[in-house]
Amino acid sequence: MTPSAPPEYNVTNQDYTRRDHFRSDVSAIIDIHAHVTRTRPTGDGAEPTLDQADTMMAVASEFGIHRIVTMCAADDIAPLRERFGNRLIFNGSIAKKNADAPDDDAYRVLDQFLTSGVRLLKFWSAPRGRERGLVVDAPWRIEAARRARAAGVRIVMVHIADPDRWFSTVYADSAKFGTKPEQYAGLCRMLEAFPDLTWIAAHMGGDPEHPDHLQELIEHYPNLRFDTSAAKWQIREVSAHRDAVRALICRYPERFLFGSDLVTRHGLAREHYVSRYWCHRTLWESELQVRSPIADGDYVPGADGSATPLLQGLDLPGDVLDKVYRENAAKLLDSRDADS
Ligand SMILES: [Zn+2]
Repeated sequence: MTPSAPPEYNVTNQDYTRRDHFRSDVSAIIDIHAHVTRTRPTGDGAEPTLDQADTMMAVASEFGIHRIVTMCAADDIAPLRERFGNRLIFNGSIAKKNADAPDDDAYRVLDQFLTSGVRLLKFWSAPRGRERGLVVDAPWRIEAARRARAAGVRIVMVHIADPDRWFSTVYADSAKFGTKPEQYAGLCRMLEAFPDLTWIAAHMGGDPEHPDHLQELIEHYPNLRFDTSAAKWQIREVSAHRDAVRALICRYPERFLFGSDLVTRHGLAREHYVSRYWCHRTLWESELQVRSPIADGDYVPGADGSATPLLQGLDLPGDVLDKVYRENAAKLLDSRDADS
């Protein structure tokens, strides 16, 4: 019998019970970017369940994450709210099935989310969504932002770009997908058109590879923030640019928000959730240096033949960490009642 391959959530046999490198003074973290949803076993007629959400929420608590902003289907909001109360805050993703679908499809989704009390909108605008018309400043998204603002929403999250590496692999056809720098033009137009909204560019603005670019954006747009989500990507690239990213966050600590991008999926092991929260916290608050325990298909093995990138903790100062983990999100999420 051949030994089975190690699970994607632990290819280095990391001991996740090792937590002595976590700060003892960290409390009440807010995860601004996650996907807690009902999940369905595959197969016809299967009923959605909250089993995976229960598992993820329990793991989150264990790691000090007290509140989570989740993107889920509008239908999931009521059952999730009933189960988890104010531990969850909802972010409504506004999209259309394809470029030819009527704009009213998007407005109907928006109305459903607004009726359900979402506090944020999400405009997912990755290059691979271009063909379906999912650009960040499509006219129907501009109109959705206007309507949401009128209804009291003050925050829009966007997914703009993907790892540098994808632009030489999945997005090598730049006539079709655009170059990486081109992805940012639409975002800049939205930042200017809606200066009174706070825009959160997910996944370190989609550009952890270029802290200098992030700094330019920060300096240009006071209404822009970044979230730290996407474990594999941030482990790989933030570690590779450790000192520059650390210096940037320390210079502008109010611009960064902790996020995981964890997604509930049917059949996931509990350790999957553990691995992500363990790595995120290790990356931001500790000075630990370990091989990433998470399998990473985008990592190009170095000369030493390691299968995963080095995770190099940033060891952020306590006051900076508190802003990133809790304070910035708390201020943003609590500001709505004050100004509406
Ligand atoms: Zn996400």
